[in-house]
Amino acid sequence: MLDRRTLIRGAAALAVSRFLLAARDAQPVDAPLRGPLDPFALGVASGEPVRDGFVLWTRLVGVRGDRVIGWEIAADAGFRRIVRRGRTVASAGRGHAVHLEVAGLAPGRPYFYRFHAGGHVSRIGRTCTAPASADRLRLALTSCQHWEQGYFGAYRDMVERDVDVIVHVGDYIYEKSFGKGPDVRSFGAPEPRTLSDYRGRYALYRTDPDLAAAHAALPFVVCWDDHEVENDYVGERGVATADPHAFLARRAAAYQAYFEHMPLRPSVLRPGGEVRLYRTIDWGELARLHVLDTRQYRTPHPCDAPGKRGGQVVRTCDAARDPAATMMGAMQERWLARSLADERARWTFIAQQTLFSRLHLPDGPDAAYSDIWDGYAATRNRVIKSLAAPAVRNPVLLGGDVHSFWFNDILRDFDRPENAPVATEIVTSCLASRSGPEALFGPALRLNPHVRFLDNQHAGYVLLDVTRDRVAVEARAVTDLTDPHSICRPLARRTIEDRRPGVQA
Ligand code: FE
Ligand code: CA
Repeated sequence: MLDRRTLIRGAAALAVSRFLLAARDAQPVDAPLRGPLDPFALGVASGEPVRDGFVLWTRLVGVRGDRVIGWEIAADAGFRRIVRRGRTVASAGRGHAVHLEVAGLAPGRPYFYRFHAGGHVSRIGRTCTAPASADRLRLALTSCQHWEQGYFGAYRDMVERDVDVIVHVGDYIYEKSFGKGPDVRSFGAPEPRTLSDYRGRYALYRTDPDLAAAHAALPFVVCWDDHEVENDYVGERGVATADPHAFLARRAAAYQAYFEHMPLRPSVLRPGGEVRLYRTIDWGELARLHVLDTRQYRTPHPCDAPGKRGGQVVRTCDAARDPAATMMGAMQERWLARSLADERARWTFIAQQTLFSRLHLPDGPDAAYSDIWDGYAATRNRVIKSLAAPAVRNPVLLGGDVHSFWFNDILRDFDRPENAPVATEIVTSCLASRSGPEALFGPALRLNPHVRFLDNQHAGYVLLDVTRDRVAVEARAVTDLTDPHSICRPLARRTIEDRRPGVQA
């Protein structure tokens, strides 16, 4: 029988032989690069912290063919104490992106890293391993960054506040202009459809100095929403791209470009074009973050008006309660239920894309907006049931997408507001975009007693300070989206107390 040590040695040998095979035809690390371009112009990034490691990312630009690049990890910012170094291949087929999964480091401490190629050295990145045990965690929750509608200065605020992890729940890029067009700067390119178009869009985003600096300074945990492909798409069904074959080709290009630019594990790429983004991140036994993907596996929107696809207000719609409709797909739902059944953490966070709570609308008692969880009420009920598992001590939903801040009580039955909440929901506004539709959200406070705070005027992000006894939640608003040097200021503070679901003053 193989023991653990032999298995590890075997795995290491396999990794080495895979590297040698890949490296045989690749340009060596010190081969000169063509042209004057800095191959590391897109910067560096890290993510997926675990107790003994993380994922490091970079993507070379201006190179052809596969090539070997060098990497180093140090315990100090001056690289005097280098703890790991090695080589890896940046392959042309993956857009010269590198996703380096590192293991065997010490828990709960910062590390510094950099890459080398052709005599160039990347900027220095800083990241950390997850702690083995923890009594605090500082998260930044963010979503929705439209290049044309605002500067990304809120990221400076996250770096200054020294957060542990940035959780990005989607609309990392936008595929197109909306409304009256650019407010602050232009995409300068048409809507992306091919892999090379989407690569160009991400590369443009990484030229934003605040976004690039945040990636270099802090680990990100990311999941996409719709605009990483196209507005309001669901599963294999496009909206703007109605032809099914054209949509699947567009989605495949968009998915690959997303993977190529994010600090994700290489193993998220699955056969058949799936990118498996649902997963958990642990912070000692203080917190477990379940990251959901509510786009890739969704069934079509219920009760579409004829000839009109995408999210809309549906007045009466039994299909929105159909148990066969799903926001997550059966596999992901089972995975979540199993994970929650054996939860050990004090705080259970569910990071997902959009508004989870019921949103009663002025259009009638059954009216629902079909792109949010109201379009898939049966999935929501199943998730609420899983959150009631005895192992789950403090369930907290985290979301974005709606370009407005919401702090909500989650009820087992949203038509019975007199009952005690069973969970809490925190929704961040857009980081850089225009506010949500006032017709939809304006009457929400009046019609939805479980909505405890709502702001549809500001962009920004949410800071969550997690300790054993409570989570301190702070909405932070960007003072001026049109000013690249704008600061953030606190907009609202609330708390969530241990063993007391719901929003407290
Ligand atoms: Fe958005
Ligand atoms: Ca969205």
